[in-house]
Amino acid sequence: MKKPLKSFKKMRELMSKHFHEVYEASQDDKQKVAWCTSVGPAELLHSFGFKVYYPENHGAMIGASKKASEYIPYANAIGYSQMICSYLTSDIGAFLKGETPLQKAYNIPSIPKPDVLVYNTNQCRDVYDWFSFYGRKFNVPVIGISSPVNVGEVTENIINDVATQMKSLIPTLEEVSGTKFDIDRLKEVVKLSYECTKLWKECLFFGTHIPSPLTFFDYTVLMAPAVVLRGLPEAIDFYKEANEEIRQEMKKGLTAVPDEKVRLYWEGMPIWGRLRMLAELFYELNTSIVVSTYCNSWIFEDFAYDFDRPFESMAKAYTELFIVRNEEVKEKVIANWIEEFKVDGIIYHEAMTCPNNSNTRYGMPKRLQEKTGKPYLIINGDLNDMRLFSDEQARTSIETFIEQILENK
Ligand code: SF4
Repeated sequence: MKKPLKSFKKMRELMSKHFHEVYEASQDDKQKVAWCTSVGPAELLHSFGFKVYYPENHGAMIGASKKASEYIPYANAIGYSQMICSYLTSDIGAFLKGETPLQKAYNIPSIPKPDVLVYNTNQCRDVYDWFSFYGRKFNVPVIGISSPVNVGEVTENIINDVATQMKSLIPTLEEVSGTKFDIDRLKEVVKLSYECTKLWKECLFFGTHIPSPLTFFDYTVLMAPAVVLRGLPEAIDFYKEANEEIRQEMKKGLTAVPDEKVRLYWEGMPIWGRLRMLAELFYELNTSIVVSTYCNSWIFEDFAYDFDRPFESMAKAYTELFIVRNEEVKEKVIANWIEEFKVDGIIYHEAMTCPNNSNTRYGMPKRLQEKTGKPYLIINGDLNDMRLFSDEQARTSIETFIEQILENK
């Protein structure tokens, strides 16, 4: 039977400290706050001493609070379509309504005001439009990197292009922060991010163990420091302790679900408003979701590409990312993880408002089934807009899928 890990409590404390620090910095003229996309150049921002805030993390909190459907119409009313990223629409909607999940979770009255917004379109164009809304609202600079998409091989040309774009952010960041750029400081931060990535990978790879001690639903919580504290020593300390605790608990028999019978891969975004419902359903079905593209996307081993050339290392790490790659590369990555984590099948989440993170639309599920022999199920839903998700339909199709896997085992 699964036991609550102390690490979950520690992580909540760490996140509380993080949000308070960022909010307090936004209230203090001497400190500066940068907003950053989740796979943006956070290391560069930390090297200038910015407190870094991630709107996508806030979007996920809104999704988990189940209030997204209440906020989205506010963004629709000012012209942001129902069909675009529901992180964007629910986050802007919450802002227009004057609410934030930070109030309830950490007693923080509002999101922190930015001094600069820094994006990378490596994941999608929506982040540019999202940040531009707040740039206009707060009258602060919006700067960023336009990354290539559908990338096969990450060539030197691509690395140099992205690295050059990163370097071009320096003058604005110097002006906003009032700090001169220091390459040695950037090298240190990139090394810290690399340390964090190694530990996060180690944590995720506990899922290769049979039975698995943790599932996708645990990892969607435990990943927060890898997302919002990478580049800071706190993230490293956290994963060192968490990994040690998990190792110790595994020795005592920690397992995620009772009598694990089926192991699955989760492809696509989490369904934030239904995490608990889905976690309980898989638990009842003796099924562990042991690996996911989403959580694995914060493994950035290419920070180690060349520690003496931190821009090139960041450029490589943030372009080797799964979401940036073409179908051929994505299929290879998934096929490897299927093997490493010994899964019996794949669940694809087709998130209606995020085509960028839904790999169901160009034939991948069938091709991967032919290649790996593993069956798949596609669930229609969304990351935040729960009006696009049917509990009954999802439950029935998941139950049937698992029954079929068990029959064929
Ligand atoms: S990748 Fe998807 S969920 Fe993330 S910001 Fe872009 S559209 Fe939204």
